[in-house]
Amino acid sequence: MSETTEPPLKKPKMAETVDSFIQNIICSTNDIHAVVSNDFSYPIAFTKVYVGQVRNVKELSKIITILNEKLPLKELQHLKRARKKEVLLCPVRYLNVATQQSIQEYIEEKVNELRDSFEYFKVMGLPSLPPKLKWQHTEYTKIWSCNFHPNDYLERLCGKGFFNSEELTKHRCYMGVAFEVARYYLSKTKTPLDVSDLTLSNINATVVVDPLLNLVVTVAFDNRECHPVQHSAMLAIDNVAKTQNGGAWNTDNIEYVTSGAIDKSLFLYLKSKFPDVKFGARNYVSKEVLDENKMSASESPYLCTGYYIYMIREPCFMCAMGLVHARANRVFFSLNNETQGALCSKTKLHCVPSLNHHFEVFTEFL
Ligand SMILES: [Zn+2]
Repeated sequence: MSETTEPPLKKPKMAETVDSFIQNIICSTNDIHAVVSNDFSYPIAFTKVYVGQVRNVKELSKIITILNEKLPLKELQHLKRARKKEVLLCPVRYLNVATQQSIQEYIEEKVNELRDSFEYFKVMGLPSLPPKLKWQHTEYTKIWSCNFHPNDYLERLCGKGFFNSEELTKHRCYMGVAFEVARYYLSKTKTPLDVSDLTLSNINATVVVDPLLNLVVTVAFDNRECHPVQHSAMLAIDNVAKTQNGGAWNTDNIEYVTSGAIDKSLFLYLKSKFPDVKFGARNYVSKEVLDENKMSASESPYLCTGYYIYMIREPCFMCAMGLVHARANRVFFSLNNETQGALCSKTKLHCVPSLNHHFEVFTEFL
């Protein structure tokens, strides 16, 4: 599908102070929405097909059986073969353009026994993809009958109120942590800060949360000025690896606290702002020990498996792909990254079918 109806980009109210801006993110009861595939939104993509009107309706089921055997619909399996006296024959592109083959000639070539079965033919545009949501099924069936398997989870994900109020409170709190991380680092070079320092400058902060244990595993802030690929999400992934006996980047100057990978003074700052938020990571268990004790892999996750990622800004392509490789479970962001964003603004990387891992994406915190 070509177009999508994304919500308009929201700009923060500039009269706010940094405190009120972050408080608003944490305390707002506004919904948080999923960023979903364009396949779930208008417009419907159509494929041109030939449809034949059968002469004798009593032969309909026999005609369908023959067509299914000799002229299967392949990629259009979601479409029913017949509607009243009309039968879906094949996509228009199947006919030989070079010889200007007619549909009658094509039927005679492929299913000669049906050469006299049709009163007339016509070209119709039918939905080229199966309906995934109930509203799509309703719209598609106005055009042609479709097979449809409703998916309650998808319906909820694409609708309003996916998260209950308790979940919303948690997500907003962790997003607040991400903004406080940004404030903490920005304050080292500029005081006082105003909201635009957080929202309009091209900086990012990342918070990684283990949702099962409600633990902040690590937080990170951009270090792009010193290292071109040390974007906050990449640093956060490396920090998570450090909690699992891995990690590649040298961060000897950072004194980590708790079992999570968090700079000590930043940890104290965040604890003062969020006394109820817990920090830490699960005990690392090596694969050998897991195997020896017949423990499930979920007891010691691989990188960000199952983890939620909170970022103040939509990640770039590198970071989004890094989060795919790290097996993040969900990514939340507040601000669109209109020039480089890979999860909404420029593309929806998490909706690319050929990737071997897909996370869910949520936004609209502001
Ligand atoms: Zn990035």
